[in-house]
Amino acid sequence: MVVCKKCVSRLSRYRKVLLRFKDLGFVKVFSDTVGDATGVSSAQVRKDFSLFGIAGNKRGGYNIDTLLDKMQIILGKDQVHGVIVIGVGNIGRALIQYKGFEKEGIAIVAGFDINPAKINPKAQVPVFSIKNMKAFIKNKQIEIAILSVPERAAQEICHKLVDAGIVGILNFAPIRLQAPEHVEINTVNLQVELENLIYFTKIMKKK
Ligand code: NAD
Repeated sequence: MVVCKKCVSRLSRYRKVLLRFKDLGFVKVFSDTVGDATGVSSAQVRKDFSLFGIAGNKRGGYNIDTLLDKMQIILGKDQVHGVIVIGVGNIGRALIQYKGFEKEGIAIVAGFDINPAKINPKAQVPVFSIKNMKAFIKNKQIEIAILSVPERAAQEICHKLVDAGIVGILNFAPIRLQAPEHVEINTVNLQVELENLIYFTKIMKKK
């Protein structure tokens, strides 16, 4: 099933909230409870759930386990996704060391860098020379890469990743990457997020 980006992001938020309700011992939820907890209207929640083929009933609400099972499949969390990191500097290293991805079905399986001082094939998450990247992607059938190299290197690496078979890139470099249509690129821009936050905190102060 193909769903829009905004919808997928809402789905992730619903899932977090549902896991919390489940931990608290709830078995069923109503769309307005999920809506209140995620800042989404209850009508939108119902629309999203029905789009995923999840039916509720007016009196009893939705079964949390059924919702979570469906979301697990839609978000691809029923299997572990191997991800590689290109550029093992400040950001790349922090991501490689972060332990929280595994429970979400994401495993960072290797890092790649151009700097020989960063290479460590024996580490828990091995770091290899960039020269080995293509063969690794092909052998392990990796589809997703995190790009955390300097801006000047990002586009060239992006071409190499696509050429090797990567179809999803989480890009940290401050550049709009060019790639074929079948490749999904999500760029993380903390500066924009911070500017946004500063703007809204200013508005709140004026109120
Ligand atoms: P860094 O300099 O600490 O690390 C970059 C790493 O990439 C280094 O280990 C370097 O050896 C490696 N590298 C350089 N050229 C390479 C190549 N051709 N192939 C493979 N590896 C290569 O940088 P950082 O602080 O981790 O930042 C990484 C990127 O993220 C930069 O582009 C930076 O501008 C960007 N950044 C983005 C945000 C954001 O909000 N998205 C915030 C901070 C930094």
